[in-house]
Amino acid sequence: MKLQDKVIILTGGNRGIGYAVAKGFLEQGAKLVLTGTTQERADEALAKLTEELAGLDFDATALAVDIRSDEQVTAMVETTMAKYGKIDVLVNNAGITSSKPVLAESVEMFSNILDTNVLGTFRCIQAVAPIMKEQGYGNIINTTSIVGTTGGRGQAAYASSKFALNGLTKCCAKDLGGFGIRVNALAPGCTMTDMLSGFPEQLLQQLAMMTPIGRVGESEDMVGPFIMLASDESKFMTGSIVSVDGGITL
Ligand code: NDP
Repeated sequence: MKLQDKVIILTGGNRGIGYAVAKGFLEQGAKLVLTGTTQERADEALAKLTEELAGLDFDATALAVDIRSDEQVTAMVETTMAKYGKIDVLVNNAGITSSKPVLAESVEMFSNILDTNVLGTFRCIQAVAPIMKEQGYGNIINTTSIVGTTGGRGQAAYASSKFALNGLTKCCAKDLGGFGIRVNALAPGCTMTDMLSGFPEQLLQQLAMMTPIGRVGESEDMVGPFIMLASDESKFMTGSIVSVDGGITL
């Protein structure tokens, strides 16, 4: 198993890409702390994992964490350390989007997206990295997006946050590499989750046609690459932005 006994914190692990990745991590032997924004949502995900992974003796903890809150992020790290005594991997997956042309976007929404996607990730890194530094090793994976390098129509706030996340990834890789901490980002293409629920069918078909593999992604398509980045198979990788997008050209 590629993640045997690795302690992994996965934010936004209760649905969408995060849920699929949570399942994959547990199948690979990880000890997992998965979060949703409410305890009920996190518990529901854990119950679903228990049902879907029947027969697998796994160790997972469900927590309510809003990554916009310093206190909740600190509590997440304290709970993880109290239960498992170490943190091998932090996956910053939680994120929100907005699909509005730049002239229709509001300052409030733009600000909320930055607070969640960028500062939320920054908060988690600042809370976890000192522990990893003390350990002398650690591995951080940020979930960015293809639009974080290409931009996208109607994506001013969201794409800006992902550009910032790519920058944060590269800076953290440089700042933390000397402490044995690797920092990479995974950039999904269009992936069928609640985040795409507002996309009209015609747009999804257009996106599929722009993708050499011929379809939009599913959450399960992200699992293998996340396992690779979380495992020692990627031990010489840091500061990388790994695209998992079917080859789409935006
Ligand atoms: P979903 O909308 O399906 O899930 C979002 C997750 O983030 C949920 O678990 C949600 O928790 C959590 N979350 C939202 N706000 C907060 C917050 N303030 N604090 C903590 N957790 C929060 O999204 P996806 O699975 O599609 O996206 C996962 C990641 O992948 C995101 O970073 C997204 O930007 C990125 N991505 C997605 C793409 C796609 O096409 N789907 C493409 C490129 C990147 P809750 O359920 O409790 O609300």
